Amino acid sequence: MPELPELEVIKEHLLSELTGKRIDRFRILKPYALKNLFDDDLHDEEIRAITRRGKYLMIHLDAFTIVLHLMLRGRVRTTDRCRMRKSLAAFIQFTDGICLELEEPGTQKMVKIYVYQKDDRIPHIERLGHEPLAPGFDARTLRSLLQRASCQLRSFLRSQKYIAGIGSAYADEILWMAKLSPFKHTASLEEQELARLLRAIKDVLRDAVVQVRRHGYSEKRDFLHIHGKKDMPCPHCGTRILTVSFSRGDVYYCPDCQTRGRKLKDRRMSKFYRKG
Ligand SMILES: [Zn+2]
Repeated sequence: MPELPELEVIKEHLLSELTGKRIDRFRILKPYALKNLFDDDLHDEEIRAITRRGKYLMIHLDAFTIVLHLMLRGRVRTTDRCRMRKSLAAFIQFTDGICLELEEPGTQKMVKIYVYQKDDRIPHIERLGHEPLAPGFDARTLRSLLQRASCQLRSFLRSQKYIAGIGSAYADEILWMAKLSPFKHTASLEEQELARLLRAIKDVLRDAVVQVRRHGYSEKRDFLHIHGKKDMPCPHCGTRILTVSFSRGDVYYCPDCQTRGRKLKDRRMSKFYRKG
């Protein structure tokens, strides 16, 4: 699933390619994708800006805002003309012929499109937590969020309501970089650990933006150190990277760097999750 760094780079591309273009046609081909009532017409609307908030992309028009969430496998791309095909969920055709396509290959029906009037409140955007790369996201902010959260660190990082834009891959990378157990409780962090966590959040995400800019976005993300690298040596200490099942999907961690040599138990059924 694309996370903050991938979406940031997608936003940069779309911004440079589409700003100022005028819409000829906007079509939803897969009705499941449209998540709010919209039967208006976007004809003649101009793209004023494109922004990102958490894992959402927002296309700001004259009188409307289109909000996109790519979920697991959604993709956006611009082409020189629209080509109809099965995977296409929606498209915008511009007056100069250029096409912005939103596609979702496979059988999943997860991508989300919302169209709002310009001054509408956008509830799922308002509910999002802090942007971790914003200058105002500092130790004080992080401390208060950790205290409020009262959960395990990995769930905290992925929640979207405390910090926006982080999913499984970068949560694993951040906790490895900070040398913290994924199951450690947010209230139990010492000052030094908090400083390490803050630095890891910023460094991992900033570095990933640079990597994705350089190499483009692919599911593989070769530059990751630990996520998806089961049984490979930890780049820091050489210990074999382990995984543990956790709600949806696996958690990757280095037992030497993060859990003082302890092997984490499958927590899906455990009552003792607070002890991590
Ligand atoms: Zn290690």
